Amino acid sequence: MSDEGNPQQAPTAHKLQTPIGMHDILPDDHEFFTFIKKVVRHRARQCGFRRITTPILEATEVFQRGIGDATDIVDKEMYTFTDKGDRSMTLKPEGTAGVVRSYIEHGMKELPQPVQLYYIEPHFRYDKPQKGRYRQFWQFGIEIIGETDPALDAQIIDLANRINEDLGIAHLFQIQINNIGCPKCRTKYKEELVNFYIGKERSLCENCQDRLHKNPLRLLDCKAEDCRILAELAPKFEQYRCPTCVEFHTKLKGYLDELKIEYVENPKLVRGLDYYTGTVFEFWDKTEGAQNAIGGGGRYDGLTELMGGQPTPAVGYAAGLERIIGHMHKEGIKVPSKDDLHIFVAQLGDDAKKKCLTLLNQLRERGIKAVGALGKGSMKAQMRLADKFKVPYTLIMGITEVREGVVIVRNMQKGQQRPVPFDEVVEEVVKLIGEENLDKYSPGELLY
Ligand SMILES: [Zn+2]
Ligand SMILES: [Zn+2]
Repeated sequence: MSDEGNPQQAPTAHKLQTPIGMHDILPDDHEFFTFIKKVVRHRARQCGFRRITTPILEATEVFQRGIGDATDIVDKEMYTFTDKGDRSMTLKPEGTAGVVRSYIEHGMKELPQPVQLYYIEPHFRYDKPQKGRYRQFWQFGIEIIGETDPALDAQIIDLANRINEDLGIAHLFQIQINNIGCPKCRTKYKEELVNFYIGKERSLCENCQDRLHKNPLRLLDCKAEDCRILAELAPKFEQYRCPTCVEFHTKLKGYLDELKIEYVENPKLVRGLDYYTGTVFEFWDKTEGAQNAIGGGGRYDGLTELMGGQPTPAVGYAAGLERIIGHMHKEGIKVPSKDDLHIFVAQLGDDAKKKCLTLLNQLRERGIKAVGALGKGSMKAQMRLADKFKVPYTLIMGITEVREGVVIVRNMQKGQQRPVPFDEVVEEVVKLIGEENLDKYSPGELLY
């Protein structure tokens, strides 16, 4: 039975699924997400970055002004809708515009500059779903706002590289850098580019024909064969770069050399967003190139002003968590799993179940990860469950044990067991598990 053409009627037969291009983050995936978040948090904190979270949606204008109307993102890929107050809202397609909106709104220019912020959040783009590319995807980003110096750009690249090293994937990537100039030299270059392409429009792909007058720089990184050939012949930006931009770029390269960071200069690298000025960089997959870039960033000195703030220089980087995880899987990288349980508690009889609840609490308070079979199951069924949980030890309490005030401690691997007095069993388990393996929780510590 089909319900097509009849929106009134709820579909009856088809299975409910995640929306196209979106995915569930299942517990096994979360071990990777948690690991990456910890690495990012740790490295960012070491460098003085503080975390920021902006709303998942913003007024559409935030992205139109920030990212630029002529970009693919704003033009085709945004999840935009009109809310009940008749406002145009958009699920954020990237992180920087929202952060800058927040910087302006909260007067962060009054804080000591530069302001260093990082975020780890989901983003949304109505893109063609393909390998490693989702419509809801997670990105982490780092931003340095309020100061300009090539040393800051070098620091951002260094931090991004260190995060990749900690994740075990840095060797898979090549750092591509370029300087796309300031408004002064770039405007002149754009004119030259348009002049070059005029009369050659028919050789361009449909996309590029459309972009030629709106965003000519994007023609340089088009993947279409004919566009690539033309891009090779097009005038190079180097000839138009003004002395200030040349000096900035030379200094950046000097700092990267000082930090012993390997990079490749790529004069065709422009990035897909309008707000970039000066330095741009990307981490390219060594075998698949730009197609499988893991992240990128650059300087966006004009963005704050575009969004209604005072002119404020800034530089940032963002990378995709799903892409990172894809690479980690390909490399066979394992992350520490903290979800493994220490103890299973099996019980039989009403009194045992009562005792079992207290015992579970006592175990957990001590940092022992424990579950109990609290439903109605035979002792045999419970032991089978304990096997499935792959716990090293099971605690068993039946009617006799409750009467005698003991708990049976069973070593699951050896199949050996012995009774331990109820009052001593928690410390006995601690000894068996090892103090260093406990999952200690102290609300005074930073746990976010
Ligand atoms: Zn310039
Ligand atoms: Zn093209």
